[in-house]
Amino acid sequence: MSSSTTQVHTEALPDYAPVPRSALGPALNEQGYYVGCVERNLCWITDGTYQSAFLTTSDGVVLLDAPPTIGNNIQRAVDEIASDNGVSNRVNYLVYSHHHADHVGASSLFDKDVTRIGHEETRRLLLRDDDPARPPNEETFQDTRTLEIGGERINLAWYGANHTPDNIIIHLPDHDTLMLIDIVNPGWAPVYISNLTEDIPGYIEARQTPSPTRGSTSSAATWAGSAPATT
Ligand SMILES: [Zn+2]
Repeated sequence: MSSSTTQVHTEALPDYAPVPRSALGPALNEQGYYVGCVERNLCWITDGTYQSAFLTTSDGVVLLDAPPTIGNNIQRAVDEIASDNGVSNRVNYLVYSHHHADHVGASSLFDKDVTRIGHEETRRLLLRDDDPARPPNEETFQDTRTLEIGGERINLAWYGANHTPDNIIIHLPDHDTLMLIDIVNPGWAPVYISNLTEDIPGYIEARQTPSPTRGSTSSAATWAGSAPATT
């Protein structure tokens, strides 16, 4: 085996526009997360790739998804916001968008007494998967359900299979925010990379899903202007 030097002629490469700063997402802190508020008491957390959100209420915190890559930083982020606003940091409710481990695999980090809420198919799939990191949701619904927790409204809706058979829309009408996971990915051309989607027609259709309370068409995966959800 002989060693040789490979020459790369970089001058032959074309020029590309630099990646815009806005495409990189917010800067992370030393612990590796960013937390910011979408509107009032609705905040979001990211590790630069995955996202989670939470609502502080008079009945504790409602967490929307618990990605394992954010893990213990979820509670750190909640602590930070709750202490700034003088409200409870206790996570009492956890809403599952769908059963995938990359979005709910940090569920077991939360208290046994937390109430987990999700689609009935999410419960079935989690019972099947029998993963201690993802306790099945005890609370279920079939098509739609409105949660009223600590004076806040959260509308849950299921319009059929798309990314997974159980993927739901989480709509916060009083915060003008809709959360839909794994349907729109920044920088990904739909269909070409369809994100492990099990039902392609449903995946395409989900982008034009009517908003649960407005009856109008919403842009899927809208975080009030922030980066859409990922994988
Ligand atoms: Zn998924």
